[in-house]
Amino acid sequence: MRVELSVKQVQGDFVKKVEEISGQNLLSCYQCGKCSAGCPMAFAMDILPNQIIRLAQLGLEEEIAKSNTIWICASCYTCAVRCPRGVDLARVMEALRLLTLRKNINYVQPIEIPPETLEGMPQVALVSSFRKLTS
Ligand code: SF4
Ligand code: SF4
Repeated sequence: MRVELSVKQVQGDFVKKVEEISGQNLLSCYQCGKCSAGCPMAFAMDILPNQIIRLAQLGLEEEIAKSNTIWICASCYTCAVRCPRGVDLARVMEALRLLTLRKNINYVQPIEIPPETLEGMPQVALVSSFRKLTS
């Protein structure tokens, strides 16, 4: 992945908001990778959890938005338990989801879900999906 960095981005509002909402100091992460090694959902993510926090440290909001990772995260807290630096990455993921949803972009359009798919889906999966993926 090729990215361009600027001081404005790294010290910008996005980083401050993620830290404020999550209550975490992003710079505590030193990229050991233990969060990603233990993440039960990593197999389905296009960017690993430790890479997401690196992108967040650098203020690379758009790169995070292109990834499926924050939506795949199951908030299981395995990463938070494993982190040697005490970073609660599950909270960081939640902050990233909140900031994305505040842009009022719907990632699921309920009306576009085919009836045959709806029939086979557990109700709890639908509700969870609407809560996480719609604004
Ligand atoms: S386990 Fe903690 S310190 Fe290690 S990469 Fe993940 S968030 Fe960073
Ligand atoms: S909270 Fe999310 S990122 Fe952390 S281990 Fe669980 S699924 Fe992976």
